Amino acid sequence: MNPPQEKEPFPWSMGVYDAHCHPTDTMTSIPAIKTMKTRILTVMATRSQDQELVTSVADSHSVKSPFPEKWSDDERIVPCFGWHPWFSHQMYVAEGDDVGDVDALRDLVGEEKVRHYQRVLLPRRDDPSEEDLRIFRALPDPTPFQKFLAEAKRQLQKYPLAQVGEIGLDRSFRVPEPWAPDLEDKRDKTLTIGGREGRRLTPFRVDMKHQKMIVKMQFQLAAEMNRAVSVHGVQAHGMVFDTLKELYEGHEKKVLSKREKKKQGTSQPTETSHSEVDTETTSPPYPPRICLHSYSGNASNFKQYLNPAIPVEIFASFSTAINLSDDLDGETPKSFEEMIQIVPDHMLLIESDLHTAGEHMDTRIEDIARRICKVKGWKLEEGVRILGDNWRRFIFGDVRDG
Ligand SMILES: [Zn+2]
Repeated sequence: MNPPQEKEPFPWSMGVYDAHCHPTDTMTSIPAIKTMKTRILTVMATRSQDQELVTSVADSHSVKSPFPEKWSDDERIVPCFGWHPWFSHQMYVAEGDDVGDVDALRDLVGEEKVRHYQRVLLPRRDDPSEEDLRIFRALPDPTPFQKFLAEAKRQLQKYPLAQVGEIGLDRSFRVPEPWAPDLEDKRDKTLTIGGREGRRLTPFRVDMKHQKMIVKMQFQLAAEMNRAVSVHGVQAHGMVFDTLKELYEGHEKKVLSKREKKKQGTSQPTETSHSEVDTETTSPPYPPRICLHSYSGNASNFKQYLNPAIPVEIFASFSTAINLSDDLDGETPKSFEEMIQIVPDHMLLIESDLHTAGEHMDTRIEDIARRICKVKGWKLEEGVRILGDNWRRFIFGDVRDG
């Protein structure tokens, strides 16, 4: 990177947006949001402990319109509601007659709880050891997922500009050890509970079939509510794509051949946009827009998303924390440059993915924006304008002031 004195000033005043972060993991950092240079944070919820925290920050800081010129100084975040794959084992999907009455559904306890964890955790334990049983019993009582979805829907209704996230698929994570009481006493109480916080990992991963069910039902909620989704994918990029495809299959956009376009005298593909479909009685079965957050797939996986027949608007966002291993002063790796070159300009977003709001978040956002501008050959102002336009389209859809 250039020495700091050669740096062109960063055009914060044009409007810079963080497409994915978790400031509610450190509630003491929330007052710092108003002092930040990043104008709006897209704030994720992930687990039982942070849904209400996101609501509480939304009550004082949620944006109320898609138009930056109308934002007050207090409008600072876009709240998002979702259940992250790292916590997917804590959910069960109720089936059969039970589903009709969501309020009557209850958490699983005792033997039912043990059987649930035997079913959704891998390696599967048909004959669990004492140690396995100790872990299963100490994990949270599994909750009916339909109950969570009903609550998330209420939040999306309450905040009309809220989105869905963080949801996704992760083949590599393992379930952390439940807190031992002596360690729990010593933990940092300023951090919202539920994160890993250096706990040892158990041998258990969550069955991908279970994860897929959880992510698909949330894609469906986003579709029903016509909201964008922030998606986490780790070592499961093909499966994220396939899950989305299962939802839009049969609703592909009709892409005209060159000859057909000429005949029609237009260079635009005829397409049914999401908003047009909205005027019909039923909403489409797929979410209108998704962001592949801190995208870590390879180029050939990403190219699947470039098919113009896909009716979902796709964005990919990048962070210094994940995509560059938080190496602020490091060289930009070739592989990162190649990835950024593949992502079309109108699909690019930037994010911090950090768990604390404040100056540190601004520094990360500036770093990733500068690197992307350099790779794309954009002047800073041009790049910040493109990234800002993309973020507003991701969150608000194609709205025009008026
Ligand atoms: Zn995240």
